[in-house]
Amino acid sequence: MNNRRPLIAGNWKMYKTCSEASETARHLVKLVADAKDVDIMIAPQFTALAPVSEVVKGSLVSLGGQNLFWEKEGAYTGEISAEMLIDAGCSHVIIGHSERRQYFGETDNTVNKKINSAIKGQLIPVFCVGETEKERESKDTFSVLDKQITKGLESFSSDQLEKLVVAYEPVWAIGTGKTATSDQAQEVHQFLRSMLEKIFGDSFSKTIRILYGGSVKPENIAELMAMPDIDGALVGGASLDAETFSKIVLFKTK
Ligand code: PEP
Repeated sequence: MNNRRPLIAGNWKMYKTCSEASETARHLVKLVADAKDVDIMIAPQFTALAPVSEVVKGSLVSLGGQNLFWEKEGAYTGEISAEMLIDAGCSHVIIGHSERRQYFGETDNTVNKKINSAIKGQLIPVFCVGETEKERESKDTFSVLDKQITKGLESFSSDQLEKLVVAYEPVWAIGTGKTATSDQAQEVHQFLRSMLEKIFGDSFSKTIRILYGGSVKPENIAELMAMPDIDGALVGGASLDAETFSKIVLFKTK
């Protein structure tokens, strides 16, 4: 038992028009209206943020961006800043998702800069880490995660990272239908928490939330949430449908 409040976050990736996103959000708000023991966040694509923020206003559902750039404003075509995400109604931002690392050249260094701008702008960073299938097979999981955490969080103090959320997302489990077993996930979450303890101290590591992500669905959330170091989920595919996502949100064991 711990005092960490679960967070169930939905990453809608590059799906849904503004009206589709608003409709899903409207439905979700109703379905989770009584979910007072869990934090809920959805991250629609950028153009849907402002309309969806109107829909979730005053509800239990928070809004997040899927990415940001570290400058406040300027000649950075195609980018968006922490201030702009806040202006559109966001409280959270996903940083370092494996799809951004894989397709858009995101590195531990750019992730570090993005976390810095998120915390300066008062956004809660949902910082994603995870190993590829090849790295797991060659038994490099822990060294890969060690590097992602050390570099991604380099030069921050524990006070600055007070609201940080870490998401462990094994790349081989994202969108593949393959979920890490709850024991595999727990082993990594425990490792991540012990790393955070080494870097930032005991009380920090005990309060920070570590989410699991990778083919989470209503059928496996119970088993995952029963693990002592799993504090919630970052959900891709299964978050796109309000009914399905609400079943994940409404499951609570802790
Ligand atoms: C994700 O994109 O963060 C994710 C975990 O996707 P999925 O749930 O579809 O595996």
